[in-house]
Amino acid sequence: PLVLGIESSCDETGVGIVRGTTLLTNTVSSSMDEHVRFGGVIPEIASRAHLDAFVPTLRQALADADVSLDDVDALAVTSGPGLAGALMVGVCAAKALAVATGKPLYAINHLVAHVGVGLLDGNPDGGAAAGRGAGRPASLAAGLGHGSRLPENLGALLVSGGHTEILKINSITSDVQLLGSTIDDAAGEAYDKVARILGLGYPGGPAIDRLARTGNAKAIRFPRGLSQPKYMGTAEEPGKHRYDWSFSGLKTAVARCVEQFEARGEDVPVADIAAAFQEAVVDVITSKAVLACREHGIKDVLLGGGVAANSRLRELTGQRCASAGIKLHVPPLDLCTDNGAMVAALGAQLVMAGIGPSGIRFAPDSSMPVTAVSLPA
Ligand code: ATP
Ligand code: MG
Ligand code: FE
Repeated sequence: PLVLGIESSCDETGVGIVRGTTLLTNTVSSSMDEHVRFGGVIPEIASRAHLDAFVPTLRQALADADVSLDDVDALAVTSGPGLAGALMVGVCAAKALAVATGKPLYAINHLVAHVGVGLLDGNPDGGAAAGRGAGRPASLAAGLGHGSRLPENLGALLVSGGHTEILKINSITSDVQLLGSTIDDAAGEAYDKVARILGLGYPGGPAIDRLARTGNAKAIRFPRGLSQPKYMGTAEEPGKHRYDWSFSGLKTAVARCVEQFEARGEDVPVADIAAAFQEAVVDVITSKAVLACREHGIKDVLLGGGVAANSRLRELTGQRCASAGIKLHVPPLDLCTDNGAMVAALGAQLVMAGIGPSGIRFAPDSSMPVTAVSLPA
């Protein structure tokens, strides 16, 4: 089926079009530039930016894919989780399109869509049409799309500005299990807050990633949240937070560390702090994710979310998965960050599984649970 997906949960306005598991286009407009001077995404600005960007992004996507709205078999839209006002814009636009064209509309979970993108198969032409340059390797979308079937025992590690979660995907269309998640800040949020403390600007992830390469990660040891025995328990008797993360204590530890250097009148070793902070984040994310996978018989893991851009996270996840006999799949970066193609990809899976559309009476849900793949009519 030809499916058009719409994404507006945060600061990216995305329209993606797929045919089954083939990516035709992934068109994204971001309002990130407008948030830089505030040091974070301002919901009201993001919502207005979606309003401005939606129609041009839709037109561009249809042109890139060389299809018309008439050709489309189904529409899909992110209905949550995300910023309420931002979600509202995409959902209203999608409903309007559904009413105007009479096409079925699927209300889709953003987090599950981050995983569903892994089902897209290699299509260098589609990549070129979407302006990413020709010659994308055949393993385009993480190499999961073998005949549009996900591997059994698939896990997903989602690490972004809003989420840090380890999932077990029993069925991408109907059965997603949350194994663990952050109990406070998301990993990307921690990067952004620590970058602010270190005076590195926003978004903080890329800046810390770059600076960390010049620092000594062993110069300081920052805490690995929720790693004490009382939280971990044992495999037989798991603690309450065995697979969960916490990053707010780490952020406070970085702030205290900077204060101590300043109080002593010493130069703050910013690169060492960045490297040590990054090591703490990546160490605890990868150790807990791999533990959860081992204890749940997971043999394939998909890495997703904007923090998947992080060089150290990719490296250490790769190493630890390999040691544990787990195969790691990392989609190309423009499919890891928020986009419409992932929404279309999951929408196509729902159509192909014979699951019914959502109608047009649903409301966006800013805290939609990851266990809800799509909304029933
Ligand atoms: P969500 O997808 O959960 O709704 P979001 O839209 O904020 O949230 P993304 O756009 O997927 O998340 O990712 C943005 C986050 O990724 C930011 O917090 C940014 O700092 C972080 N990030 C980007 N590149 C890197 C990097 N190289 N290293 C670490 N973090 C990074
Ligand atoms: Mg974003
Ligand atoms: Fe996202």
